[in-house]
Amino acid sequence: MAFETLTFWEDIGKAGSIGIAGHIRPDGDCVGSALGLASYIRDNFGKEPEVFLEEVPRAFAFLSGADKVITDYPSREPFDIFIAVDCGDEGRLGKAMNYVKSAKKTYCIDHHATSSGFMESNLVIPESAATAQIIYTLCDDSKITKGCAEALYLGIVHDTGVFKHSCTTRETMEIAGALLDHGVSSARIIDGTFYEKTYLQNQILGRCLMESILCLDGKVIFSSIDRKTINLYGLGPADTEGIIDQLRVTKGVEVAILIRELTPRSWRVSMRSCEIVDVAKICSMFGGGGHVRAAGATLSGSRRDVINNLTAEIEKQLVKQG
Ligand code: 5GP
Ligand code: MN
Repeated sequence: MAFETLTFWEDIGKAGSIGIAGHIRPDGDCVGSALGLASYIRDNFGKEPEVFLEEVPRAFAFLSGADKVITDYPSREPFDIFIAVDCGDEGRLGKAMNYVKSAKKTYCIDHHATSSGFMESNLVIPESAATAQIIYTLCDDSKITKGCAEALYLGIVHDTGVFKHSCTTRETMEIAGALLDHGVSSARIIDGTFYEKTYLQNQILGRCLMESILCLDGKVIFSSIDRKTINLYGLGPADTEGIIDQLRVTKGVEVAILIRELTPRSWRVSMRSCEIVDVAKICSMFGGGGHVRAAGATLSGSRRDVINNLTAEIEKQLVKQG
């Protein structure tokens, strides 16, 4: 079923129960999109959607509705509408898939190039810098409250790396500008949720930079964090955010890779590219996905296996490009 904005809001208006979920290991755009959409529905329809996320990273806890997020996915009556935001496939929706299976109507709002169209009605715009940007375009600007604006602005800030990634367009900046008019403090969101690092985050950033290795004539940089280090520092997923971005801006580098060991011989991969390599294509080959310039996957094997597999694919693309 093709996505129709009018029908979407009509369905929201009719629904008795509304569920919203984002992807596993939620990031800024995921949390901002889910809470921004929930705020808009609460403020304009007088309904309280239930928002499901694995966690709300501490820096985002001030967002309106963050305290009501459900993290334990209890079983419940089927939802009239269930909406997946910033998530393009079943595996990435995690436990929230149970709600999708029983829901009367399902929607997906997403911007991943690898989005599979797994819901009944899917609004997928890969050119959009953030899912929060797409959600803004569905809303009536005059009905956006400060709480909603803060969440959407945070989503855009995080997925654009503070308006610097190549996905940032004039439309992104105009929407961000419009959100500022709703009373958002850009300093609070940019410094407070993006740049501010804990002592632990800085320590692990330093360690990853120091231990990073260049290969393929300096075109690829990679770093890894093994189980021992994760346990030693007590690292959570949010503690390693931003490391990949610092690796990527190394002079001469086209692709940055950061791998974290989830369980023995299973690695969570993050990849970023600058201008040439399609990292979504590479991550898709290993069961992951994402965007052309930012993608992820989970790979198994030794550290060396993972790096070899990824760099072999990068090399193919670089050779083809000449
Ligand atoms: P990150 O490296 O920050 O975890 O992910 C980069 C981008 O790729 C994000 O937009 C994220 O949603 C997407 N991504 C990361 N891992 C996966 C994955 O395993 N599958 C899919 N489909 N997308 C992923
Ligand atoms: Mn996103």
